[in-house]
Amino acid sequence: MIFSILLKNTSYDQKFTILDIVQEFQYCAMEIKKTRNTEKQNLVKEILSKTRHTMSVEDIMLAMPVKVNKTTIYRILDRFVEKGEVHFVTGKNGKTHYALCNNCGISHKVHNHIHFECQECQEVTCQPNTLHMPDLKGFTVLETQFLVIGICNKCKK
Ligand SMILES: [Zn+2]
Ligand SMILES: [Zn+2]
Ligand SMILES: [Zn+2]
Repeated sequence: MIFSILLKNTSYDQKFTILDIVQEFQYCAMEIKKTRNTEKQNLVKEILSKTRHTMSVEDIMLAMPVKVNKTTIYRILDRFVEKGEVHFVTGKNGKTHYALCNNCGISHKVHNHIHFECQECQEVTCQPNTLHMPDLKGFTVLETQFLVIGICNKCKK
């Protein structure tokens, strides 16, 4: 529709070339994609900020009000992790659980707070308790994950 209007305009205004139109279209498509990506990023952040436990990529996918594929969510989360806005912990079953960062790291990737995985409800939560980071002589620490497995206070009878 827009394309045909633009084409019609070109016959009146010779300054417009097909190349201009194509470039304009590519630019518009890029802008739309950019906006959509920002929207998706904001949604992921919003979802993570509303939960008190960590979330897997599947959990986030289900909570998204719009359909977003797994790869896109992984990419968004990777970027947040790079920026130090999100951290993750690998659960007992090998699943990655993500949580928003809230001044939780010693550095971007080195976190010293404990995560608790409940064997009953499978929830993985960030705990306020921190561990003292030992000095591993001669070794460089790039990333840390502290996981404690047990029964959470909600599931304990
Ligand atoms: Zn963090
Ligand atoms: Zn539980
Ligand atoms: Zn955490």
